[in-house]
Amino acid sequence: MERQSAAVIGAGMGGIATAARLARHGYSVTVAEKVERAGGRCNRMVRDGHHFDTGPTLFVMPQVYARTFADLGERMEDHLHLRRIDPTYRVHFDDGHTLSLTSDLHVMQAQLEAMEPGSFGAFLRYLNEGCRHHRLAFQHLIERNFRNPLEFYTLRNLVLLFRLKLLTKHYHHIGNYFDDQRLKAAFTFQDMYVSLSPYEAPATYSLVPYAELSEGVWFPEGGMYAIAEALTSIAERSGVRFMYGSPVEQINVDGARATGVTLANGQRVGADVVVANADLPYVYRHLLPDDGTAGRLQRKKYACSALTFYWGIDRQVPQLSAHTMFLSGQYRQGFDSVLRDLTLPEEPSFYVHAPAHADPALAPRGQDTLMAVVPVGHIDDTSPQDWDAIQKRARQAVLQRLAEIGVDDLEAHIKFEASCTPPGWRSRYNLTKGSALGLGHNLSQMGYLRPHNRHGRYRNLYFVGASTHPGSGVATVLISARLATERILQDAGVRG
Ligand SMILES: Cc1cc2nc3c(=O)[nH]c(=O)nc-3n(C[C@H](O)[C@H](O)[C@H](O)COP(=O)(O)OP(=O)(O)OC[C@H]3O[C@@H](n4cnc5c(N)ncnc54)[C@H](O)[C@@H]3O)c2cc1C
Repeated sequence: MERQSAAVIGAGMGGIATAARLARHGYSVTVAEKVERAGGRCNRMVRDGHHFDTGPTLFVMPQVYARTFADLGERMEDHLHLRRIDPTYRVHFDDGHTLSLTSDLHVMQAQLEAMEPGSFGAFLRYLNEGCRHHRLAFQHLIERNFRNPLEFYTLRNLVLLFRLKLLTKHYHHIGNYFDDQRLKAAFTFQDMYVSLSPYEAPATYSLVPYAELSEGVWFPEGGMYAIAEALTSIAERSGVRFMYGSPVEQINVDGARATGVTLANGQRVGADVVVANADLPYVYRHLLPDDGTAGRLQRKKYACSALTFYWGIDRQVPQLSAHTMFLSGQYRQGFDSVLRDLTLPEEPSFYVHAPAHADPALAPRGQDTLMAVVPVGHIDDTSPQDWDAIQKRARQAVLQRLAEIGVDDLEAHIKFEASCTPPGWRSRYNLTKGSALGLGHNLSQMGYLRPHNRHGRYRNLYFVGASTHPGSGVATVLISARLATERILQDAGVRG
């Protein structure tokens, strides 16, 4: 039989993993990537001995990564040297208290009981529920394709609606476990990873703190970018051809089929199968003939964006952990500002990553490498925000809050600074509305209701990545690569 060919648009984690999977199944694969290297949002910046992961920094759900390597005939431990980060985070509350989230139960017990007597038992029950949610959600909703409504609207999924507490608000629900506002915040702030407010998110998301504390938060030696490097090299060894600095301008179609892609330089790449890893709403708007879908997608809910600051520091900052979370006292208003008003809260919550605290090689000796991530609204097409002013305010808020925990001279020690704003995310990776996480994860955009991984009309055009099923996050995108590949192979009549 003649060898099948695939053209992949974008070398984000979803594109790399799908390319590698298809190559392993005998496909001849070409990946066209807009920017100068692979990784997409999971990218790297190196300057004066400081190594920054510019996007993801939290390696969670290690079993998903391990499965990707295993499916490619490799062992994850031969490629990634993982260190467990425990405590996973140090959380700073605005009243000056801190909490180290750790899997060491004795340490957790002492900290929790000091904040709210009796809360340790509640914490164990909460984890137990998170474990149940994790198992059910992965088995029935996340790690499977929904090819038609009959596979989604089932009696079992109706029962799941209740078992997973999909209709119960997370923040309300956590009141069954804790009274202390700080504890309620410490075990719900993770909803922001899927850009949901705990006041709107389903209680299902207790699965995230559970996953972080039980399966661990890890960090690969060399940083998160090591994952992109490892998967790219496996793909290359299977024959995948990566073309960098090669933006795709158009997906070529003929009747009900995609025939390949045309690059910005006019070069045409023909293919039996086209896989779009570039952000799905962007693909509909810019790479496909307009059939009305782009307009409909534009009106969907988008996840938040992020203001990021990358600082090379000429001294160490011992007050910070590898992952430090600063939670605002105006917890609810913070989510409303970002997700409803599409702006920066008065008192933003934010996160600081200090990678050299996990891998000392990521900063010059005696120095530090810091990244601050401040969640902010995505670009508002109808009423454009003043990003310069917002960015200045965010920077000031971060420096001020750091000063409050004793890092009061940071600005004087910043050797150099880089940053990214929502327009920056949009222009670099073609992310619609500059959303850092793609299409939102509200219930009406999940499961079968999320854009599918195969185009409705062009039956050999597939989607992989954060804005298709199952959603955002590196591990989730790796699952999307597996699901898209399974579908491609099924359609081609090959056993997965
Ligand atoms: C600041 C930030 C922090 C994050 N933190 C975490 C975290 O801690 N943990 C976690 O798991 N996840 C995190 N995420 C989410 C995670 O990074 C993403 O969900 C994931 O990397 C998305 O991968 P993807 O393959 O879907 O898309 P992308 O990474 O967007 O890749 C798509 C690729 O397509 C390319 N492309 C676009 N248009 C074209 C075109 N016309 N032609 C050719 N190529 C094109 C882009 O350049 C890009 O390389 C974070 C994201 C951000 C932005």
